[in-house]
Amino acid sequence: MTVNPKKHEMPTQAPEVRARNFQEVALGYPVEVAVEEAKRCLNCKNRPCVEGCPVNINIPDFISQIKQGDFEGAYQIINRSSSLPAVCGRVCPQETQCESQCTLRVRAKMDPVGIGRLERFVADWHNANSQEKAQAPAANGHKVAVVGAGPSGLTCAGDLAKKGYQVTIYEALHTAGGVLVYGIPEFRLPKSIVAKEVETLKELGVEVETNVIIGKTLTVDELFDMGFEAVFIGSGAGLPNFMNIPGEAYKGVYSANEFLTRSNLMKAYQENPQTPIMKGGRVAVVGGGNVAMDAARTALRLGAEKVYIVYRRSMEELPARREEVEHAEEEGIDFRLLCNPTEILGYQNPDDPRDPRNGFVTGIRCVKMELGEPDASGRRRPVEIEGSEFELAVDTVVMAIGTSPNPLIKNTTAGLEVNRRGGIIVNEEGLTSREKVYAGGDAVTGAATVISAMGAGKNAAKAIDGTLRG
Ligand code: FAD
Ligand code: SF4
Repeated sequence: MTVNPKKHEMPTQAPEVRARNFQEVALGYPVEVAVEEAKRCLNCKNRPCVEGCPVNINIPDFISQIKQGDFEGAYQIINRSSSLPAVCGRVCPQETQCESQCTLRVRAKMDPVGIGRLERFVADWHNANSQEKAQAPAANGHKVAVVGAGPSGLTCAGDLAKKGYQVTIYEALHTAGGVLVYGIPEFRLPKSIVAKEVETLKELGVEVETNVIIGKTLTVDELFDMGFEAVFIGSGAGLPNFMNIPGEAYKGVYSANEFLTRSNLMKAYQENPQTPIMKGGRVAVVGGGNVAMDAARTALRLGAEKVYIVYRRSMEELPARREEVEHAEEEGIDFRLLCNPTEILGYQNPDDPRDPRNGFVTGIRCVKMELGEPDASGRRRPVEIEGSEFELAVDTVVMAIGTSPNPLIKNTTAGLEVNRRGGIIVNEEGLTSREKVYAGGDAVTGAATVISAMGAGKNAAKAIDGTLRG
């Protein structure tokens, strides 16, 4: 049997069109293309792709169902391991996980099977065609509280609810979904998909209480007083880091979290939005991860005339997913690599303190970098090139240089230990230093991936079940 060496292309909106709208960029495989792509799979006996998946989806089996045209059967196989397939099919870094292990890639040096694209196809097919509602199982009489409605909390809640637990999720924001709703933009992950996943959880009997901040509205100890027998903390890593360079207090400097939250969650791109945002002009986004790509492409869609990515290493070290970088380049984002900001510049009229332009960003001063010896992370350390300073004229600066876990829960929960980066310390079951308090996802690891957060939620759900029911 000959195998097509190339993965089937995913149709997308044309770059010049999509750069000015918030609709989804990648349009998904049509049925015939999905079946053709599935036929590339060799159904390997040793199943290396399954090992590469953090939640061990039974990949060859779901792909076999697609080959036979049984898309619902394929969905049911995925659903045994992952409760958010429509999300993961869109945003998981498959190229470093399941697809990196695919025999076609490793042995035959071809494109791997498009596992992520097939997962998305199956989940979308199910959402469009299945009328089936999730059934709440018989209650087992135990109550568990979950803090945070991101992928880790949603997964933990879903797995416990399927076992008959009465689960309540407490979410600080007014909408459930975590980064999936406030961070990742609509053009990469339509919010209706996340809402559908949350609805499924509610059908299973999970209660979602929004606008409740654990550590302020209620504490972890009060949750136990309310009768919950275990608590899972999936509060993420939403505290933005800044560079601490001069000028960060000027108007027009945002953390990526604030910029994306205003745009995604508060829909600042609509007419008469609930929140203002800087639109248009020239924008510099500092950083090279997925968050930086999302902020840059959002700025473009909000009407920016020029958007720069300013990143201190080279393209090789840039941590964002390749597909997102390619999409950003196609849309016209200007990558200023091996550059590091040293100061943000702002307007000050010495003659008129009431000049409305006072205090607004006018530019960013950067220095050029070269790569030296590898550092502790194994990546080559960027070193400043003396005398290479230059300025970019911009009106908005978005800092996308990472986030940390918020210390609020740690500060209000006696005996909860965290590491020096603020991550909650857990054992292999997700148990923290406090009895019957579990944690997982970015709150433990710092900013990571959707699938690793889901894996942690699953792991903790299993451990909670073991503790409460033996
Ligand atoms: P979160 O998703 O952060 O959810 C935590 C939830 O807890 C939030 O809803 C928060 O409001 C709530 N919360 C916080 N504190 C409290 C409190 N005290 N009380 C009650 N609720 C609280 N990963 C990928 O795999 N692929 C991608 O393409 C990708 N792109 C990304 C793009 C952006 C812009 C960002 C920011 C992240 C991206 N990630 C991506 C990372 C991924 O989204 C996260 O790793 C993942 O969402 C972590 O899940 P979580 O459940 O641990 O936390
Ligand atoms: Fe199919 Fe690749 Fe997995 Fe083999 S490794 S079963 S070819 S997806």
